[in-house]
Amino acid sequence: MKLSSFSTFSLFNILPIFVMVFAFGVIIFTFVAIFSPKVRAKMMRKQVESAKMMFDETKDVLKDLSASTVELKKDILNENIDDLRDIESMNMDIKEDSIRRTVQAVKEGWNTEEIRCRYCGEWIDNDSKFCKHCGREQ
Ligand SMILES: [Zn+2]
Repeated sequence: MKLSSFSTFSLFNILPIFVMVFAFGVIIFTFVAIFSPKVRAKMMRKQVESAKMMFDETKDVLKDLSASTVELKKDILNENIDDLRDIESMNMDIKEDSIRRTVQAVKEGWNTEEIRCRYCGEWIDNDSKFCKHCGREQ
């Protein structure tokens, strides 16, 4: 009974000192880390080493993961190959159409029958006095 109360008493005495020493150590370490490039470099090296170690440890898992990701992408592509081909051929049609239009425009000159309204920007006949969209005089 006496021993137990004694040890409780001493624990309560030591604990604040222990916490203070620990906090002081953390503060000192923080200052050293901030002002000493050498310490920072050492810490960084530790971090890099641990990152390397983590990578080495999980290398096989990562390999499996990337392999299965590739497989998954392959599966998705294979499942949708017809749709993808359709989209690509539609894209080609659109490109072909715009190239054809551009070539035609270069050959014949730009269509001069329509101009843009100087106020609203809509297309109107180049000889119209008023815009058919906003009604303002040209
Ligand atoms: Zn207009």
